Formats: sequence, C-alpha cells, structure tokens
Amino acid sequence: MESAINDRFMNPNVPDEIAGSIRPKTLSDFIGHESLKQNLSVFISGARARGEPMDHVLLYGPPGLGKTTLAHIVANELGANFRATSAPMLTKQGDLAAILTALEPMDVLFIDEIHRLPTAIEEVLYSAMEDFKLDIMLGEGPSAKSVRIDLPPFTLVGATTRTGLLSNPLRDRFGIDLRLSFYSPADLAKIIRRSSGILGTEIDEGGALLLAKSSRGTPRIANRLLKRARDFAAATGNSIITENVVRTTLEQLHIDSDGLDQVDREYINAIIMHYAGGPVGIDNLAAALSEPADTIEDVIEPYLMQLGLIQRTPRGRIVTDAGYKHMGLEK
Ligand code: ADP
Repeated sequence: MESAINDRFMNPNVPDEIAGSIRPKTLSDFIGHESLKQNLSVFISGARARGEPMDHVLLYGPPGLGKTTLAHIVANELGANFRATSAPMLTKQGDLAAILTALEPMDVLFIDEIHRLPTAIEEVLYSAMEDFKLDIMLGEGPSAKSVRIDLPPFTLVGATTRTGLLSNPLRDRFGIDLRLSFYSPADLAKIIRRSSGILGTEIDEGGALLLAKSSRGTPRIANRLLKRARDFAAATGNSIITENVVRTTLEQLHIDSDGLDQVDREYINAIIMHYAGGPVGIDNLAAALSEPADTIEDVIEPYLMQLGLIQRTPRGRIVTDAGYKHMGLEK
C-alpha cells in the first residue's frame, strides 16, 4: 500500500511531469542557500581551472530540499556527464562495480540514500573514492582472487537524509560536506513564482506567500501544492491563482496554517492520546501510526521539530506546549 507520506514527497527518482522542466539546471537558478551556492561555485571553478574532477560531495538534509537538483547542477556546471543510482538498488558488490567501470573520466556519479549502502558494498567505494581503484574479488572459495582495476577520475555526489547513519570511513572520504536546511517562506515564494512562470500559470503575491508558508519549508511540496492550486483555479474558473484559490486548495487537502497535513496531525495526536504527550520511543510510535520508523524520522519529525511542536529527547519523543496549542489542546 502506498503511504500518505510517500505520496506527499513522491520518489525523486521517478520525477513527475513537471520535475524535469521545473528543476533548476544552473547554480543561479537554484533559489536560496546563498552561502552554500557561493562555496560550491568556488569549488566548481577550481576543479574546472585545474582540469581535475571536483572533490566528492556529501549532501544532506530532509527529502525534497534539492539534493538531487544540486547533484545535477554540479555535473552541469562542471560540464560533466551525470550518472545516478540509489543505494537500495545496489544489492551486491558487482552492481556497484558495473556502474564504476562504466564511468567516463570526470563523470559525476550520484548515489541517493547513500546511508543505505550495505557495508560490503560501501567498502568497494573506499578505494574507488580515494585512489580511483576498484578492488574486487573474482570467483568464490579457494580459487577466488582479488583484482585491482583502474577507474577513471570521477566525482561522487552522495545524498543522505541523515548523516548520523553514515559510517565514519565513508563520511571521511567526502571532501565537501553540504547541509540543506528548510527554506524560508520568502525563498519558497520565489521558487513558486519561478515554477508558475515555467508552467505558464499566474499566481498573485498573496497566493504565492500563502502557498510558501504552507509548504513545510520544502521546494518539492511547494511545487506540488502549486500544481494542485492550478487545478483548483481551473475548476473554479479563475485564470490566476489568487490567495482565495490557495486557501480553498489548502482546505481541500486538509493542510493547516503551518503547512501541517493529516499525517502530521495524526503523529502529534498519537503521542498526546496514546502516550500522554510522551516520551514515547520511535518503534512504539511507528507501530501506532503503521509507518516505518525511518520514514517518521526523515519525513515527519524534522519539520515538526523546526516548528518547536515536538522534541526528540533521550527518553523518546514529546509534544511541547506549542504542539498542544497547535492541536487546540491544553497540556
Ligand atoms: P531531494 O533530492 O533533496 O529529495 P530534489 O532535488 O528532488 O530534492 O528537489 C525536489 C524539487 O524541488 C526539484 O524537482 C526542484 O524542482 C525543486 N527544488 C529543490 N530545490 C530548489 C531550489 N533551491 N530552487 C528551486 N527549485 C528547487
């Protein structure tokens, strides 16, 4: 069964029809995160000037904030080919070896969800990243032998939702660490205006700002809500997306003034109703909500913590006073 949360975020590896055209292709199209962009632009220019591959990059942050987009941009700005895979697709060493040996010099290889790499596969990456060599065992049992193959110089861009899950040897091999945080409403409004321009729909200032405030600090959600608002504008005979159209859209999708949807409210409600506001461990909560624990940790909790509605404590999750207030309840 598809979970509501997966629906909210959509799999970035299966872009929807707008993702291709809306996805920024250059650093100057990428909105927000100014100092990150400035640094990245220096590293890109340096690598280009030296004619060397750029250092390996680790991107981290919650889903939908632009990790895949930045990886594409790095390749584009370096004038390099972009190759992509995702850790859950790599189940044996040979899967990764096949990708690495097919690389061309200076390629950018993107590995999404890199924290999910099984250890045996991760170990193949160590020498590949450090020396551009592939150490691999051929055959099995007594006749097995280890061979070392030269790889072309390449740049690995790894994306993860949580650096805490990355092993130290892997993390240490990334020369560049970039953290993406939630976007401000002002930056999201810019993203929404840019996307509506590409989609050929008009949105007024009030509409863009309300949509921005309701997008959980996340460009992917902003773009998704923009598409839904475009549908509601058409359904109600509006040629532009006004603040009223956005309000109707949010009401119909059960999204509240802070951008929380039903899944978020069920999460807070579960802690309040079943665990007296907490603390409650993640596994109990996952069972109560019928959602995988890592989805809850990656997708629901970061934004609720950012708003100060919940806290993660060593003893478990708790709902704060602000969280109770948000639900219209007293602690
Ligand atoms: P992630 O890989 O972190 O899950 P993506 O890179 O797939 O996120 O981004 C989701 C969508 O949000 C992209 O298709 C892109 O259109 C949009 N997006 C992300 N970051 C930005 C940004 N800084 N400026 C404009 N659009 C963005």
